[in-house]
Amino acid sequence: MITRYNRQTRYQRFGAPGQQCLQTMHVMIFGAGALGSNIAEMLTRMGVHEISVIDMDIVELSNLHRQALYDEADAQQMLPKVEALKSKLNKINTTVKINILYEELTATNIEKLLSDSNPDIVMDGMDHFEIRYLINEACHKLQIPWIYGAAVGSKGTVYAIDYKGPCLKCLLQAVPSTGESCAINGVLPPVINQVVSMQVSELMRYVAGEGFSKKLITIDTFDLKQQAINIDSLKNDRCHVCKQGEYELLNKTRSSQIESMCGDAYLFRFKRQAFDYATYFPGHIIKENAFAKLIQYKDVNCTLFKDGRMNVHGIEDDSTARQLYEEFNKQLK
Ligand SMILES: [Zn+2]
Repeated sequence: MITRYNRQTRYQRFGAPGQQCLQTMHVMIFGAGALGSNIAEMLTRMGVHEISVIDMDIVELSNLHRQALYDEADAQQMLPKVEALKSKLNKINTTVKINILYEELTATNIEKLLSDSNPDIVMDGMDHFEIRYLINEACHKLQIPWIYGAAVGSKGTVYAIDYKGPCLKCLLQAVPSTGESCAINGVLPPVINQVVSMQVSELMRYVAGEGFSKKLITIDTFDLKQQAINIDSLKNDRCHVCKQGEYELLNKTRSSQIESMCGDAYLFRFKRQAFDYATYFPGHIIKENAFAKLIQYKDVNCTLFKDGRMNVHGIEDDSTARQLYEEFNKQLK
């Protein structure tokens, strides 16, 4: 055991005590996309005790340029990312316990998920901004430290949050929320690795007992720039989340049936049975397996998941989305 990890334990500030602590740690990773898969790979190689990953997507060809470990065969087979990830991680380090959850992270399940699995720390690998405010509330309520990470275009942001310092809501002004997304603005692979490295560095500091850096780190990989702002002074004394303990998003129990995603994409939510009744939907099932069905209808491409979620590509506006949703939904009645 000692020789396997001795290149990291020889670094004195981490050392054998840091490694021992890492080997008792349970890390929960939200998302198995670019950030999540890379975080999972690094932590598995480093010998963390246990990893739990939650993600609802299947592997697609357009993921492969930046997402660790996935390959063309996974995309061809439409494997859930968590399934593909687990089998690869198991080959890298058999001593690490890997738990996977093939489901969507929502206001309805996040709290139970966290209290059931009881992780020591949460790593953020989500790809849309709003969900992070939900993570912020859940982690504050349950007093779990978490490490925010985001990447879009050439830019990345990292911020490690514990329940004593400023929370994400406190930093609202400082964290860029421009509605940018990977699907519209693209994302450069190196910024993923930079963000992941910083997130794992924060985790290592935490494990080694030095605590988080208390910095909001921003990176631009194309301009080769990096900035770190000290955030201690940014704690908002009137923050609804970390000062008053009001968890507005966490208390919202119903997810909307139609949600606009990035680019020309929408997320539809049908009843769970939709997966079994997909043959009644208009259009054709062009490919399917136990986890997902690809449906083509006119110019619209749909991926229907086991839990009744459907990713729809090729819709430009909300009213067309609503029309299409109703058209599908009436087949289920
Ligand atoms: Zn706050």
